[in-house]
Amino acid sequence: MSSEAVSRRSFIGLAGVASAGLLLFGRSQGSAAPMHFAVVRSPADWKHELGPQRYAVLREAATEPPFSSPLLKEHRKGTFVCAGCANALFSSATKFESGTGWPSFWKPLPRAVVTRPDHSLVFERTEVLCARCGGHLGHVFDDGPKPTGLRYCMNGLSLSFKPA
Ligand code: FE
Repeated sequence: MSSEAVSRRSFIGLAGVASAGLLLFGRSQGSAAPMHFAVVRSPADWKHELGPQRYAVLREAATEPPFSSPLLKEHRKGTFVCAGCANALFSSATKFESGTGWPSFWKPLPRAVVTRPDHSLVFERTEVLCARCGGHLGHVFDDGPKPTGLRYCMNGLSLSFKPA
């Protein structure tokens, strides 16, 4: 039996044990603690549901090109929800013009998101994920406006807007 087959088998066994929730390993760091999410779908189901662009961002942590999101010009009152699972993520009251080309917010709704270290670039960033489905939303930086001083830099493709 090849070592690949062995590791595949032990992965399947582990996945079976974790069947109550998605077991998500850090992409680049084996040491990252696994995170569990209430909404779990297969990659094929996500692809079918989201389409290729939203899938690349939400499930593969791609970054959309800056200034490409129609949500940059969304200034109505309402709620920005996860495009994967409809979890309410950000109030329009916390949206601000960051000038970065990505929809930006200074505070998520309570318990809406989770974060973890992202080592995919030379400098460490903090990745922001939907707390319900684990979808990749973007990153959070500490150069935002008052009152939090935080800048949640989001991919518009990971969001849908629900007017109030
Ligand atoms: Fe979600």
